[in-house]
This record gives sequence, structure tokens and C-alpha cells, in this order.
Amino acid sequence: MSIPLHTTPSAGVSMKDYSTQTRCSWCDGCGDYGIWTAAKEALVELGLAPWQVLLCYDVGCHGNMSDKLQGYRFHGLHGRVLPFAAGAKLANPKLPVIAFGGDGASFSEGIGHLVHSVRSHYPITFVLHNNGNYGLTTGQASSLTPQNQPMNTAPNGVAEATLNSMDFIFSLEPTFVARGFSGDIKQMKSIFKAALVHRGFAFVDILQACPTYNHFATHTMLMERYYKVEDEGHDPLDFKKARALAINTGKRIATGILYRNETVPNFIERLVPRQGKTTTLVEEVEKVDISKLMEEFV
Ligand code: SF4
Ligand code: MG
Repeated sequence: MSIPLHTTPSAGVSMKDYSTQTRCSWCDGCGDYGIWTAAKEALVELGLAPWQVLLCYDVGCHGNMSDKLQGYRFHGLHGRVLPFAAGAKLANPKLPVIAFGGDGASFSEGIGHLVHSVRSHYPITFVLHNNGNYGLTTGQASSLTPQNQPMNTAPNGVAEATLNSMDFIFSLEPTFVARGFSGDIKQMKSIFKAALVHRGFAFVDILQACPTYNHFATHTMLMERYYKVEDEGHDPLDFKKARALAINTGKRIATGILYRNETVPNFIERLVPRQGKTTTLVEEVEKVDISKLMEEFV
């Protein structure tokens, strides 16, 4: 298995390389712990050292991971993680890039960026921390919170209709869609690894337990309902079936790689001026001596 666009795996990378001294501040039982662990394990198993990866975080509880996981890290404005991640990737296509975002930001403030990231087919991985609410701002309803669900911002029940996030994503003709559950680290790890070597934009929906504010899709409920599509012979090339499996969550929740198509050229491959180039934009930046200019300000 090779990382797209020329990154050479490093030997001897371990979990310790990704550790930081910062203590975790997530609530007990938060699904962020599982996602954090799975992300680390995936990077280690791919042989990526922290200096070989860019980790981009949106604002939200998950964003606190930005100082708990080594690597080049960016913690941006609410809903804006994808433009930054895509820009960094375009500047240095050799760098694997993961963007982490929550359901609140990604399907409200940042929904335009999500749409254009899918249709642009940027070769990056997007991990959706889908806990069905704005946890950091203490249990506000997001557009993925079920309608009529009482929340702190809607004690009488959410008035708006729930956005069907998976149907929406499939309407954009994605090339990689997966779903995991924050209680299954092993499965998340294998999804992340596949997403990181995907040719283009990989959308990874992680159903995340938020025991403090999400009382409708609890860890127990998710554990009882999720199943792995690979155990039931699902063909991830079957777009129609993948979409149906993704949407139909009434009794059972399909997880795993739902759809994967490696035949579609990604954004960088489509850029005519970059064709045939072996260098990246960051390598092409000219080094200019500005010491003389700086003297004017001394
Ligand atoms: Fe996790 Fe929810 Fe607590 Fe945020 S509020 S840290 S998402 S359990
Ligand atoms: Mg959320």
C-alpha cells in the first residue's frame, strides 16, 4: 500500500511519537478518545512520522485534539477547516492531510466548503466527528440533531427538519464514503488508513458518542445497532447500494467503507499547468534575501 503522491513511509514510527504532554479534557466516555486513538494507530501503521502529516482541526470539542496529537497542526475558524486543508495540500501534495470537523460546523457554517471539497475532489481525508450537536457550546442543536429532540437550545424540541447528511453527501457524487463508530477503534483505524491512501476526497463519518449532551444516539444504542458492511458482502463499487445503506439507519446502522472509486482523477491531477511537474509549489517558492529590506526597519 502506498501513500498517494510520493510520500515515503518512515521506519520505526510508534504511538509514542504522536504523544504530547497535554492532558485530555474531554468528558468521561466521550467518543473523541476513541477517534484520537484510532487516528494515531492509523498514522503509525502507515509509517507516517509526525513531520510527514498535516492535521487540521475545526472549532469544537474534537478541535482540542490539536494539542494532544503531534504532527504539523492547524486549528482554524469555525466551519473553515476544509479550505485550509485543501490549500495546504495543493501547496505540498506530498503531505498527507487530514481535516477533522464536527457535524455542527460542517453542515451549517461550513457546508459550502464541504460541497466544493467533494466536487473539487481534493486529495485529502475529512473526518466528521458526528455527535449530533454542538458539544463545545453545551448541547446546542445542530442540523443533524433529530427533529423534535429536546436540546439545551430547544427545550421543547428542535423545530427544524433534520438534514440527511449521508443523502446530501451522496448527491454530490463523492468517490469515497465511509462510516465508523467511536466505540470501534479497530474499524476506525482501517477506515482511516484506506481514506488516507484514497486518490481524492475521502469523506469519513464517525458516529461519535457525546454522553454529556447527546442522549438520543448513545454509545450503547450505537453499539447495538451498528454492523459492518464487509461482513455482509457489500461491494464498495456499488454506488446505488452504498447510498441506500448509508441512508437507511432506522433499525441497523451500516458501517465500514460504503463507497470507494479510485478511477476518478483528483483535483491536482486535473490541473493542466501542473501536469508533468515533479516538484511541488512549496519547493518552487524562490528564496529571496530580504536582509537589506529589513535594515530599513532597524
Ligand atoms: Fe465529548 Fe460531548 Fe463532552 Fe464534548 S461535550 S467533550 S463531545 S462528551
Ligand atoms: Mg458536534
